[in-house]
Amino acid sequence: MPIRFNTCPACNKKIIFKIESKDLDTSRYPAPVYIHHADDACNQTSTFYFDSLLQVSYKESYKKEVKQGQKIKTIHTIS
Ligand SMILES: [Zn+2]
Repeated sequence: MPIRFNTCPACNKKIIFKIESKDLDTSRYPAPVYIHHADDACNQTSTFYFDSLLQVSYKESYKKEVKQGQKIKTIHTIS
């Protein structure tokens, strides 16, 4: 399972998480996934958008509202 290093857009600290293709709705790219920063000081959920190579296209510091019929998975950070 690929490990990704990034920064949390809510608190700007480094985050580490694992993601794989099955976490994404592959019907449309970039595909949104909620990233929950599992840190007591932050504890915020942001929305990350991934391309087909599981690279982050862009991110938003809030939990993007789900469109009708769309299911967005929540991933908890490792650190
Ligand atoms: Zn954070």
